[in-house]
Order: sequence, then structure tokens, then C-alpha cells
Amino acid sequence: MAEKALINWVRRLAARPRTAVLRGIGDDCAVIGVPSGHEALVTTDFTLEGVHFRREWHPPESVGHRCLARGLSDIAAMGGEPRASFLSLALPSPLPHAWLDRFLEGFLALAQQFNVPLAGGDTAESPGGVLCDIVVLGSVPRGRAIPRSGARPGDAIYVTGTLGESAATLAQLRAGRKLQPRVHSRHFFPTPRIAVGRTLRGRGLASAMIDLSDGLSTDLGHLCEESRVGATVWADRIPGESSRVTLESALHGGEDYELLFTSSRRVPQALAGVKITRIGEITKAASMVLVDASGRRRPLRPAGWEHFRR
Ligand code: ADP
Ligand code: MG
Repeated sequence: MAEKALINWVRRLAARPRTAVLRGIGDDCAVIGVPSGHEALVTTDFTLEGVHFRREWHPPESVGHRCLARGLSDIAAMGGEPRASFLSLALPSPLPHAWLDRFLEGFLALAQQFNVPLAGGDTAESPGGVLCDIVVLGSVPRGRAIPRSGARPGDAIYVTGTLGESAATLAQLRAGRKLQPRVHSRHFFPTPRIAVGRTLRGRGLASAMIDLSDGLSTDLGHLCEESRVGATVWADRIPGESSRVTLESALHGGEDYELLFTSSRRVPQALAGVKITRIGEITKAASMVLVDASGRRRPLRPAGWEHFRR
């Protein structure tokens, strides 16, 4: 399909009734309304074939879903509201049309679920695999974005949902297992925690927040670094989902897209229908410590996903 025909086709699919998108696909820029008293949030993330997905493991709907979910999760982590998305695609030329069709189906189903229209993008030919870049524009009441840098010693550390399921699925895929995507939905169709982020921000409950994309040990490390604090984590409190999830995958496995936040306030056991678990405490120390069930302490080192690590 030629570029113009492809864009027209995407444009028809991306119809957007009554949203923040005042002008969408078809002009030089999109025009997006931001509610008065809000400021804009912008996030961008690559989804690259061979790095973030494999065509033989991930059905196209899952690739489209995960592409947008990464961006939505970043907006959730700031306590924001997603308003519009932009999708830049570089496609290798022998790509079957059905692949792109199903990719967009997965992308647009999630976009519709969160009322985030596809407002633009770019399309080019890729010399290699499928390359997708997602931009999500969101908004948050002025001055209310929840930063990574707000954690203070004595704050409790919480996570939403359960951890490690996505990494456990990835391990099975690596081992050559054929899996049902709808059964292993935590990996193939993760749910960004927009409603929890909004609730935490609205009730002023979180002092700092980050989404868990690279793994608990790595992302908690980012939050500690930005806040210039340390952390103690209780291994037996980390919520896993099933017998498939080891402590290692819950600690270091990526792509759960849950939220990790800190608070000095009383936090309910569930928010917006999602379980909230207290897993540790922010400390004055310069590093992170893991305490096991018998009280033994050991250093907790970031060991999640990292690009360019050899
Ligand atoms: P320009 O050269 O001015 O950037 P393009 O021809 O690249 O314009 O794009 C035309 C319109 O189509 C723009 O509104 C752009 O945002 C949109 N568009 C292009 N590719 C995509 C895509 N993959 N997904 C969504 N919108 C797209
Ligand atoms: Mg362009």
C-alpha cells in the first residue's frame, strides 16, 4: 500500500467523536485542547521488532495494544489524563497487509477503551523490522503531576496489582512454548493503571510515583535516585500472581505496567478496583535493601531490563 493510501486508511479507522482532538489526521499538525487550569504531559516510547516484540511470539493485536499501553502507563504514572496519541510507523516492505490491520485493531481498541484518539503520526519504509514510536499527550491539573522525586524517608512503598506475570510469560515464550495470548493477557494485553493514577493524584495520596516497565528493582532504583533516598523492601510482601511467578521475576521482570508509589498517608487496600500492597519503606540510606521472610537483609540491586547492557 502506498503511503498516502495507508494514511487515508488509518485516518478512516481513527475517527474520533468528541474528544480533546480539535484537528486530527490530515493537517500539518494536530490541534489538541487542554482543559483550562491543566498543563500538558508528553511521553514517547519505541516499540521495536526484535527488541520489544517478536512477530513469531506476539500477535499483531498484542503489538499494537502494548505499543499504546507503554505510553498510557507513563501518563498514569504522573497521575494524568491521556488526551491524544501519535503513532509513527516504519514498516518493512514485504509486511502483509493483514499484519498492519490487526496491529491497528489492537491499538485502536485500547485507544477507544481509554478515549484517547489517534491524532497523527508518520509513516515510512523500514530497512529492517517493524519500528513503532508512540507519543501520548496528556494533561494534569497545574502543579499536580506526581514526580519520581517526591519520596521522603519514612514514606511507605506501595505497588498496584501483581508483579512478575509478564516476565514469567516471556520466559515461557523463550523456552519455545506456544501460548494463548488471551490467557496470558498480563503479558500480551497489559492494562495501564490510568484510574489508579488519577485517584492517587486527586486524593493527594502519593508523594512519588513511577510505572513498572523495566522491573521493580530497576524502577524503584530510578525513584530512589530521583528522590535521593534509599529503600527497604520485604520480599514476602511482593504480590505475585500465580505459582509460575518466582521472586526473581517479581523483583526484576519488566512490562507489568503496574504503578509503584510512595506515601506518608493511610492508603486503602484497593483503589479504582485495583489491589494496593505495601511492600516496603523509604529510608535515608543511599541504597536499597531486600529483607527475606526470616529477616535476613541483602542488597537489592537494579537487575531489570536495561538497553545497551552487555
Ligand atoms: P507531513 O509530511 O506534513 O508530516 P504526512 O504526509 O507525513 O504529513 O502525514 C499526513 C497526515 O497523516 C498527518 O496529519 C499525520 O499526522 C498523519 N499520519 C501519517 N502517518 C500516520 C500514522 N502512522 N498514524 C496516524 N497518523 C498518521
Ligand atoms: Mg510527516
